[in-house]
Amino acid sequence: MSFIDYAMKFIAGGSATTTIACPICGFKSTQPRSKIRLKQAMLCPGCKSLFVAPR
Ligand SMILES: [Zn+2]
Repeated sequence: MSFIDYAMKFIAGGSATTTIACPICGFKSTQPRSKIRLKQAMLCPGCKSLFVAPR
C-alpha cells in the first residue's frame, strides 16, 4: 500500500464504511459506520433523499 492510498483511507475513515441500501429507492451506497451508529442522516446518491439507517 502506498502512502497516498493510506492517506486517502485515513481521510475517508479507513474501513469504517459499510454499504447500505436506500430505503426509498434501494440504491446501494457506501456510508461511514459512524453515521449509522449515531443515526445521522445520509444522502442517497440515487434519489438525493436523506435517510437514517434502519435498525
Ligand atoms: Zn435513494
